[in-house]
Amino acid sequence: MDVPVDPRTTWSLPAIGTLPTTAELEPLVTRVLAPNPSGMTLDGTNTYVVGAPGSGQAVLVDPGPDDPAHLAAVESALAARDARCVAVLVTHHHGDHAEAALPWAGRFDAHVAAATTAVAGPGGRILAAGDRLDLAGTTVGVVATPGHTADHLAFRLESGAVLVGDHVLGRGTSVVTHPEGDVVAYLDSLRRVHDLGPSALYCGHGPELTEDPGAVLDFYLAHRAYREHQLLTALGQAPMTVDELVADVYAEVPRQLWPAAAQSTRATLAKLRVEGRVEGDIEPGAGEPVRLA
Ligand SMILES: [Zn+2]
Repeated sequence: MDVPVDPRTTWSLPAIGTLPTTAELEPLVTRVLAPNPSGMTLDGTNTYVVGAPGSGQAVLVDPGPDDPAHLAAVESALAARDARCVAVLVTHHHGDHAEAALPWAGRFDAHVAAATTAVAGPGGRILAAGDRLDLAGTTVGVVATPGHTADHLAFRLESGAVLVGDHVLGRGTSVVTHPEGDVVAYLDSLRRVHDLGPSALYCGHGPELTEDPGAVLDFYLAHRAYREHQLLTALGQAPMTVDELVADVYAEVPRQLWPAAAQSTRATLAKLRVEGRVEGDIEPGAGEPVRLA
């Protein structure tokens, strides 16, 4: 099996660390970058301000960290659109996306809308797949995208762009953790977003993907299949613990990313075990190596 090639390698995407704090992506959408860059959050968390121009309203998607500088940038973006925030939508519960949801919704006298009460709060709106939200002069479609987390949602705009949170990242690939994530659900979610034929993917981290979103989704599917193939090939040599598998399969990846790689490996092994293709213990600290079934 050939190593899948990321189509973005030939695109002219901005280098990491060079995204502007605020950028208008299309008439409906302004992106505001939070000042929380890291190995996992790439350039930082993208907060999206969405609303029809002239409606006087906007929704925030993934407010991100509750940071004063980020809040000031988001309030400037709202002011530039001459809009007040009427709702805060959240793709999933991770703090780098959801932390500011309740405090900022309180500040703006808006409600939070998310998949669970844990994120939306007691007065919030619980979203389900297929919901159509009439907000800020436009309609936002709710798309279930479980996998990265069980509660993950994406939001489809009238323009055809899809706000994908951590389901797809602007650079590299997304991590499916274990036991929180679910690779089977993740692959289904990639196909679901692909079937929407998105005009653009607005990611939770990294630059927006506008050139050929379908090619990126195809790459994500191929990348997962390749990782699976690598694990099965390695286990074809000898039974191995998860740590041994990570050292083998991720030899060329910087070591500080190995903990994330181990999570991802456990998630993939969990899928292979459900499919009856491997057996053994995949939990941390397990002594019994994983082997082909
Ligand atoms: Zn994130």
